Amino acid sequence: MATGEIKMQEITREDIDILVQLQKAETETVRIESFLKKIDKDKSSLEKKLAKFETALGVKKDALERATILRKEAEAEVQMVADRIVKSNENLRLVKTNKDYQALQREVDDNRKRKDNLENGLIQFLEDEEAKQALVEEKASEFAQLAEKNRADQEEIHKKGENDRELLAQYRQQREEIGVKLDKSLYRKFNEISDSSGGLAVVQVRDHLCRGCFMSIPPQLYIEVQRANSLIMCPQCNRILYYAEPEENTVGVD
Ligand SMILES: [Zn+2]
Repeated sequence: MATGEIKMQEITREDIDILVQLQKAETETVRIESFLKKIDKDKSSLEKKLAKFETALGVKKDALERATILRKEAEAEVQMVADRIVKSNENLRLVKTNKDYQALQREVDDNRKRKDNLENGLIQFLEDEEAKQALVEEKASEFAQLAEKNRADQEEIHKKGENDRELLAQYRQQREEIGVKLDKSLYRKFNEISDSSGGLAVVQVRDHLCRGCFMSIPPQLYIEVQRANSLIMCPQCNRILYYAEPEENTVGVD
């Protein structure tokens, strides 16, 4: 081999046919893998949405719980003052002097006023609690609907993926079966290029263009590709090239 000459790995037409088949299986594998990945993303985004809703519902439930505590406290306070009024009224019957009577009467009046105020406050607490209760019920029912829809969606997504998971297993197996027909270093090369080129390692050269990156293939290299007896890579995208007949009537269309 003369110095300066590019060393090209010799391969056969059969190798090229195998590479093309391998690429077909690879393309399907990559397509299904990316579809399944998208499905997983859809699933987890549904889960996140539901979890977010549940958290928001929890916050509203907490607020309701606090409102219930406030209402109960207010009720207890009203009851306490009412008890005090009853007690004072009882004492009123027992007092001997006018002075004591007046003092006690004042106490009863004060407590009645206080009770009125507390009862007004209690109405507010009750209204607040009721509003929160209604909101929790509304959101809980929305949540139940969402959870049900979510479950149905998840099931549909899962079903959609089921066939593809089977198909994926088939293509992976096919890919391996085809791969072993190749020389190990060639198979390794295919895998390396595929990994770094988004799953597209073997591309046609048609109408003088690399169909991987659409670079125009230089004439000398084009001839080498046509000969199909050595491993030719695209100078720009580094993919393995193979020759395809020019498409009739399509030249110059774009
Ligand atoms: Zn290219």
